[in-house]
Amino acid sequence: MKDLQNIYTRIKNSSDNFLGYPLAKDFSFSEFAPFLDICINNVGDPEAESTLTIDTKEIERKCISFFADILSASINDVWGYVTNGGTEGNLYGLYLARECYPNAIVYYSESTHYSVKKNLHLLNMRNVVVRSQENGEIDYEDLEQVLTIHRDKPAVFFLNIGTTMTEAVDDLSKIKSIIKKYAIKNYYIHCDAAFLGAIAPFVEPKPKFDFSEGVDSIAISGHKFIGGPIPCGIVMCKRAHRNRVANSISYVGTLDTTITGSRNGLTPLFLWSFLEKNGKEGLKQRVVEAQQLAKYTEEKLNDLGLNAWRNNDALTVVFNKPSEKICKKYQLASEENIAHIICVPGLQKEQIDLLLKEIEIESMVKEESLALV
Ligand SMILES: *Cc1c(COP(=O)(O)O)cnc(C)c1O
Repeated sequence: MKDLQNIYTRIKNSSDNFLGYPLAKDFSFSEFAPFLDICINNVGDPEAESTLTIDTKEIERKCISFFADILSASINDVWGYVTNGGTEGNLYGLYLARECYPNAIVYYSESTHYSVKKNLHLLNMRNVVVRSQENGEIDYEDLEQVLTIHRDKPAVFFLNIGTTMTEAVDDLSKIKSIIKKYAIKNYYIHCDAAFLGAIAPFVEPKPKFDFSEGVDSIAISGHKFIGGPIPCGIVMCKRAHRNRVANSISYVGTLDTTITGSRNGLTPLFLWSFLEKNGKEGLKQRVVEAQQLAKYTEEKLNDLGLNAWRNNDALTVVFNKPSEKICKKYQLASEENIAHIICVPGLQKEQIDLLLKEIEIESMVKEESLALV
């Protein structure tokens, strides 16, 4: 192919330089190159073998078992599959919620990922946006108010276990006491743990969001904290929800329980090679290292007077938005007057230092020009 080297170089450079997105950079999957020359397809349910046997479903099930374990569930009670990413996992969770309660109302905060509005639109579900607090967490008083208006309807709580912009975690205990206070009998809880799903199980104190808390489904992105060349993710749910939507299809001889028919068979291999190599201990260590870098970044940004802060021990450091030039160069995501750096695995301290230096120089130039006026 023409230009292949240029395309590679451009992406490699951008990939080395970004600081504002939650995508781990420290992976290598080149040992899987031979798989690029064969057709792999995990069509249908990961637990139901297909008549087409060019799959990696056995490995996919190992990934799911690993996640069941870190999400405090027995594989006898929960089910899941490897998705194309967090968005698909969230769509699936909402789909299960709708099949469970067709006339439910979905509650989610205004800090929720942009894809959720689209998912709700696709599913044609009634929904109410709840205000967020300053730190990005859902506003429980506002939730209570809107909930009382519709307390005769089943409720779907779409919770953020780490918002995209500030890594804020909605407090499941508070949600549960609201459910109790208003005696809501029919409800469904979905946790969007796109970034934090592979992190939160190893954080102390552990955020409440997993199956031990009785949640119905959880979506996690695989290409974020774990990392990889192809977007992917995990969705997990209580088995009863999956059984409700299962249809048998004779054409491929498997169950149609997933959103897409043909499914990626390569990403389960990537995920499992990471999980097998690192295990729970490795993941925990990875979290600790990333937290240390985030702490360092927060302190240094504050030394420069940029009002940096983090939710709990988050990997996301929020601070005053620097110049457009710097945002562009370091690919910093920004919203209104704040920007963030996400201290993902593979991000080097030296890269943070480069950014800090550049911010410092810019502010010195600014001060000088002010002094001239
Ligand atoms: C990234 C993200 C998503 C979407 O995940 P994709 O893997 O990009 O589809 C959803 N929710 C949150 C909170 C996210 O950070």
